[in-house]
Amino acid sequence: MTASHAVHARSLADPEGFWAEQAARIDWETPFGQVLDNSRAPFTRWFVGGRTNLCHNAVDRHLAARASQPALHWVSTETDQARTFTYAELHDEVSRMAAILQGLDVQKGDRVLIYMPMIPEAAFAMLACARIGAIHSVVFGGFASVSLAARIEDARPRVVVSADAGSRAGKVVPYKPLLDEAIRLSSHQPGKVLLVDRQLAQMPRTEGRDEDYAAWRERVAGVQVPCVWLESSEPSYVLYTSGTTGKPKGVQRDTGGYAVALATSMEYIFCGKPGDTMFTASDIGWVVGHSYIVYGPLLAGMATLMYEGTPIRPDGGILWRLVEQYKVNLMFSAPTAIRVLKKQDPAWLTRYDLSSLRLLFLAGEPLDEPTARWIQDGLGKPVVDNYWQTESGWPILAIQRGIEALPPKLGSPGVPAYGYDLKIVDENTGAECPPGQKGVVAIDGPLPPGCMSTVWGDDDRFVRTYWQAVPNRLCYSTFDWGVRDADGYVFILGRTDDVINVAGHRLGTREIEESLSSNAAVAEVAVVGVQDALKGQVAMAFCIARDPARTATAEARLALEGELMKTVEQQLGAVARPARVFFVNALPKTRSGKLLRRAMQAVAEGRDPGDLTTIEDPGALEQLQAALKG
Ligand code: AMP
Repeated sequence: MTASHAVHARSLADPEGFWAEQAARIDWETPFGQVLDNSRAPFTRWFVGGRTNLCHNAVDRHLAARASQPALHWVSTETDQARTFTYAELHDEVSRMAAILQGLDVQKGDRVLIYMPMIPEAAFAMLACARIGAIHSVVFGGFASVSLAARIEDARPRVVVSADAGSRAGKVVPYKPLLDEAIRLSSHQPGKVLLVDRQLAQMPRTEGRDEDYAAWRERVAGVQVPCVWLESSEPSYVLYTSGTTGKPKGVQRDTGGYAVALATSMEYIFCGKPGDTMFTASDIGWVVGHSYIVYGPLLAGMATLMYEGTPIRPDGGILWRLVEQYKVNLMFSAPTAIRVLKKQDPAWLTRYDLSSLRLLFLAGEPLDEPTARWIQDGLGKPVVDNYWQTESGWPILAIQRGIEALPPKLGSPGVPAYGYDLKIVDENTGAECPPGQKGVVAIDGPLPPGCMSTVWGDDDRFVRTYWQAVPNRLCYSTFDWGVRDADGYVFILGRTDDVINVAGHRLGTREIEESLSSNAAVAEVAVVGVQDALKGQVAMAFCIARDPARTATAEARLALEGELMKTVEQQLGAVARPARVFFVNALPKTRSGKLLRRAMQAVAEGRDPGDLTTIEDPGALEQLQAALKG
């Protein structure tokens, strides 16, 4: 048995012993009385009775040893700014933000919605919430008003923290009008909106509701805000993610379990040491930003590099220039970013001194072999694919190099990480599949610390969605297909549901369909994910127009396609905009009226649509084919 198999086996045979040891990685104000309580499965509680605080562990705890060491580097190639905050400075900024939130009447358990570009204040706000026991809900800045409204409606925040604008590839994206529109659309009204003014865009204020961050920041200078100690299972945050319905799910995370899980992963999976610098090129709006831009590196006493910009501006060497400049030791990105770099001059990979860099981690979407080879050979550094989800909060599959550098297999993110009792199960029977047989990637409970504790405000949905998806087995479904080989390596083979993955961004086809349907020109629509060489997948829409005249000519179709793309962009954001909208007279359905999405996807990808015995009207698929050709 290899070392990582041994650690994995022990974590499952003796979860209490294993996780009690890991729990020593963080400070507890009150020690826990019980490591694991699974008496109300699947509502698992870890470190029961223990009281701790994420902000204390990420910031205050390090002041004694590393007050003057960097904690947060921030670089924006969008605004040509850079700043470094030491742990002492980070502590000061987070304390001020916490004092401001308290000044705006935020109490323990209140939600604070953070709709922010990649600026340091976004991290301050997250940590400040953790400090005072408020529950943050960060919404990706690329989402537009309807997406944002759905999240405001569900999270019911007391305060929203936002900014005048973000910037993407040199183009200013005003946030405030989108936020104002979202609040207008929502039945829940936040009491206050705290605004960071970057002076990138005009920012009209609503009297009595909108507050100025800079003014408040001066006012609360020097105010000490003690950490509010939370019982381990009390929520730290809610992060919305897409599922099969149009309504996003609020993934609720606990406090103590998350802190322990991240601290453990920093060593066992990411090989991070205190004083190291980690550069996670993602966004705080996604789970990887929560875990490995903000909390993980700071919990481990490392410096984190937060980057506002793209991988190719001002040039294709920017990421590597940052590695040299900040002596980055660990880097984390997504396969799409590497595929984007592949189109640039390969000389960028060798132009800078990358001697500090030890490992490059990639996650969020399947890593194709050519891309993995290209970057690994180009950098001469190990590339570590890892598989996980918003729900898990930290890697489920990886080569756990902090335990042992098992040989990687291209195309597989690796073996199950300690704590995960991962099974490949038959979708119809729930029985475990033998090696080589495709099945659903499932996890037998209890889920390890750090994984979602429930769906925010909807325990029932948590059970129904995740724990009753596989028949005859109480297991957590990842909604991914997978197969295990004889050595225990798992290969991920795509989603079992209608979720698509565009450039590592998880999107629900239902949400996009609902947005398209809100346009009066649309009678019916189906959205599927179609393979794309750069983004992994893109959304493609097949639409029946209400008025045939609007699709009668090529010109008319082009105009309507543009209009519909705009609808999605305005409501959900550019990330969700379909790559193409095709017009048809019928959609392929079963006799009971269910859309044959998989057949549509196959046709759109030029594959055989497979078994069509249940199809109502075979002509609909032919139409689809014709539309794609046309
Ligand atoms: P998200 O919740 O946005 O992180 O998306 C999670 C989903 O992305 C997973 O359920 C997978 O479908 C996909 N995914 C994430 N990481 C990988 C990976 N390393 N390989 C293949 N698919 C991945």
